[in-house]
Amino acid sequence: MTGHFICPKCRGHLTVDDHVVFSGKLKNGKSGLLLFDLKLNDDALVTHPNFNFNEGDYIHLYCPICHADLEAKDVHDNLARVIQIDPDGQERQILFSKIHGEHCIYKITDEKIYPFGDASHLYHNMLSEHFLARL
Ligand SMILES: [Zn+2]
Repeated sequence: MTGHFICPKCRGHLTVDDHVVFSGKLKNGKSGLLLFDLKLNDDALVTHPNFNFNEGDYIHLYCPICHADLEAKDVHDNLARVIQIDPDGQERQILFSKIHGEHCIYKITDEKIYPFGDASHLYHNMLSEHFLARL
């Protein structure tokens, strides 16, 4: 995954170097900044050591610029949404899991859903029905 990622609400740029930056909050109230590596390797998330979480933890994600909740509840409670701007200027929805350890990202285009990550089977069928059933 490359390109520029922006907040769907304020359209502020979320990409810094190779990472997308989010503000995150756990169910226990702990909050902090998250750097999300777009290459989706094992250490895809970088945080301050005081802001730590376990496999399976649900992380609320917010835009670090306007603080909008990046939830995608209209699609699924576990997914968050940002906008990717392709090199040709096209804008695409990017959906990804807010559950720590679920490595999955989906790029939504008009014709196809492109899944990335070793857990991408988890929401793929559901997303296909949601976005492509009308075709
Ligand atoms: Zn924003």
